[in-house]
Amino acid sequence: MVAGDISAIEATESYLAKAREGQPALNAFISIDNEGALARAGALDSLRVEARSRMRLFGIPIAVKDNICVKGGKATCGSRILNSFISPYSATVTEKLLSEGAVIIGKTNLDEFAMGSSTETSYWGVTRNPLNLSRSPGGSSGGSTAAVAAGLAPCALGTDTGGSIRQPSSFCGVVGAKPTYGRVSRYGLVAFAPSFDQIGPIARNVEDAAIVLEAIAGYDPRDSTSVNCPVPNYSNSLERDISGARIGAIREHIEGELTRPVRDAMDAALKALQSQGAEIVPVSLPHLDYSVAIYYILSTAETSSNLLRFDGVRYGHRSSNYSDLSSMYRATREEGFGAEVKRRIALGTFVLSTGYYDAYYLKAQKARTLIIDDIRRAFGEVDYLIGPTSPQQAFEIGERADDPLMMYLSDIFTIPANLAGIPAISLPFGSTDELPVGVQIMAKPYEEAGMLNIARALERADNHAPGR
Ligand code: GLN
Repeated sequence: MVAGDISAIEATESYLAKAREGQPALNAFISIDNEGALARAGALDSLRVEARSRMRLFGIPIAVKDNICVKGGKATCGSRILNSFISPYSATVTEKLLSEGAVIIGKTNLDEFAMGSSTETSYWGVTRNPLNLSRSPGGSSGGSTAAVAAGLAPCALGTDTGGSIRQPSSFCGVVGAKPTYGRVSRYGLVAFAPSFDQIGPIARNVEDAAIVLEAIAGYDPRDSTSVNCPVPNYSNSLERDISGARIGAIREHIEGELTRPVRDAMDAALKALQSQGAEIVPVSLPHLDYSVAIYYILSTAETSSNLLRFDGVRYGHRSSNYSDLSSMYRATREEGFGAEVKRRIALGTFVLSTGYYDAYYLKAQKARTLIIDDIRRAFGEVDYLIGPTSPQQAFEIGERADDPLMMYLSDIFTIPANLAGIPAISLPFGSTDELPVGVQIMAKPYEEAGMLNIARALERADNHAPGR
């Protein structure tokens, strides 16, 4: 496209058509922006070659999760309460993508407010896994991972609070990375649990993920938790030799209850890394068992306070069924939020309430520190941590919908990285059947470059990796 062999319009039209065609079966998108995307592609095509070649994503169509703001467009978060909300400004990641030449083709489906692991709770309906339509694509970024896996977009943005980039990436056989907390600006991301939320790339291979991460990472004064630390050129160091790297195999994850295909893929992944000269060291993180409990106390507490802003006054939906101010609040929230979001608000309000705060919220904060200490200690001995992304492959749609606890356990392996704020990536590896298996690699804070390098080494060893 930089050389003009294909125009940005041609590329955009082709993906828009695929996205539209994919909708009836997959429902990966909440909105597809035909007009905006084509206008944008046309403007890119009129640029001179020198300007084009300075852009890392020139003409590349990209799908963006619908909890990230694009000025003038909807950002529904999969919720009825934000159905009529139009973003008054763009997220920093959106601005960065555009300044690198990307074309945003649409907004992808998600569990309501990104709370979930299956992309089943959106007001806009269920998203299906393109590899097997009766299966869930995982969640909450299931619209983004389904779109990339089905080739409706070459890459996408997702968000990850407890695993929502990595778990659906593992279910759909794509690569998804959660950067270090603070690496990518959260400005313009609708908050779910702000001490955990991060935006990250979803792509068909490690290199594409590295390029998108490069484009969106970096310090942003508009996000007070953004970190001012230089962003390396991730895509340049992918082919580095990994011999001598010390990789900690997490006992609690690898020896946990895994399905057969996950166990086999995991064993194969360790061998593949060893054969490239990496040293696999068993490590134990004794407090990992508490991760899910800690996460669901802290994240619901943050949610209950965050979502107070959706009151029928400032944003989106307002009930027409009320007699005074407080009945307006009540009716609006009753109508606007789905069951899972209400459950989280109720849980969060409970753990923060007088008499329970010390027993739940404060205790969970202390326990979070124990996990962070476990991980820090492990990183004294090894450079990376490895394990499966999820204990199983994509489950059936509906299989866990009525069992919140089982649903919460879907993120048992991904949550620790969010608790500790460290970067983590999931990539498909070594599946022996039609459904992919995801392997997760975690790294020290700001060590995304090394993490991507290890991921690339693994990808190279897998003949079935998509996009090859
Ligand atoms: N599945 C987890 C939850 O429901 C994580 C969601 C996410 O990362 N956004 O909270």
